[in-house]
Amino acid sequence: MATPSPISTRPQTQYFRDAIEDLKAQHLHFRLRILDGEQKPIATVDGKEVINLSSNNYLGLTTHPTLRRAAIDAIRKYGVGSGAVRTIVGTMKIHMELEEQIARFKGTEACVVFQSGFTANSGTVSAILGKEDLIVSDELNHASIIDGCRLSKATIKVFKHKDVADCGRILEETKDWNGHKLLITDGVFSMDGDIAPLPQLCDLAEKYNCIMMVDDAHSSGVLGCNGRGTVDHLGCHGRVDIQVGTLSKAIGSIGGYVCGSRDLIDFLYHRGRPFLFSTSHPPSVTATCQAAFALLDSTAGEKLIKRLWSNTKFFKRKLKRLGFDTGKSETPITPIMVGDAAKAFEFSRQLFDEGLLALAIGYPTVAQGKARLRTIVTATHKRADLERAAEILERVGKRLEVI
Ligand SMILES: *Cc1c(COP(=O)(O)O)cnc(C)c1O
Repeated sequence: MATPSPISTRPQTQYFRDAIEDLKAQHLHFRLRILDGEQKPIATVDGKEVINLSSNNYLGLTTHPTLRRAAIDAIRKYGVGSGAVRTIVGTMKIHMELEEQIARFKGTEACVVFQSGFTANSGTVSAILGKEDLIVSDELNHASIIDGCRLSKATIKVFKHKDVADCGRILEETKDWNGHKLLITDGVFSMDGDIAPLPQLCDLAEKYNCIMMVDDAHSSGVLGCNGRGTVDHLGCHGRVDIQVGTLSKAIGSIGGYVCGSRDLIDFLYHRGRPFLFSTSHPPSVTATCQAAFALLDSTAGEKLIKRLWSNTKFFKRKLKRLGFDTGKSETPITPIMVGDAAKAFEFSRQLFDEGLLALAIGYPTVAQGKARLRTIVTATHKRADLERAAEILERVGKRLEVI
């Protein structure tokens, strides 16, 4: 058999290499860090033990014994895969039970689970709107919302981040729009950790007859009663037509869900392309999520959320006292603003050498000149971990003149 020629030398793909060289020149190139073992507050990454401030594992559920047991039991009982898409024969009884459980938790009529939060957003927005329609979207909304908007072929108008007046201006200018209108926002913004002005946006949605949609990926399990999210936290029950959440962050597993009216969910059964054309979750994932929601709704869950918030407040106070700029964060997502991308990446690299994992985020994930470290403490960090993290941040931050 002939040895294939190395793919990298083929002229038609040379531009991959050119793009990578370009990223390297701009200090935006990265390689993947490899986690060895469990996703925990003290983790082994690239062979080095570090304090882990980079996961979305808010409540430490990725390694929770009850969830582990639920997954293992489900594998014993149902096997490792569902074998089909939901609309063929891939809807197992536990898939329906989880959806009912989430709908009850959120206080909505119905719920549908998607393979990820990403597909929940992109699959829903692209299903409910078409090219005659209008989307009014916060400029910092998540990439999965942006992709859903583009897939829908609707007209997209973007308002300044959290700027209710700017959003109102757009809606006033388009008040005679003929098609459907969607007003969409993240509940908690994933890179800045700030909270959407949901009550005011609901006012606008009601005034201008818009469908109101919130992506609560970073607030489920974090904000609201037992982690019910921003709609609960900000008293907007009954005012939001579509609530998206993820099963991949605080819930500790993988997946996304959409909560709303029975009609919305039935509509998505027929029009949500990831639902129709991509295989449903393995039963172990579903059972894990069932156990996670049961835990959230118990006193043990309440304790974890309380711990998450006391750790968050403790760490934020420390950072502020040291003179770091933590932006506008109001949640466990705490950016440490740096500005210059090259400096942010160097900051992150030196922190890692000293035993702290805090990843640098640059363009295009955040705007040019707004590079930062992104930190998230969890319920399972110990105070001593956070104190040590602050010491390392102080030392390296002074060395690089971030503070
Ligand atoms: C992480 C995230 C998603 C995607 O969720 P996954 O379950 O990881 O696909 C969607 N929206 C926001 C705001 C997120 O932060």
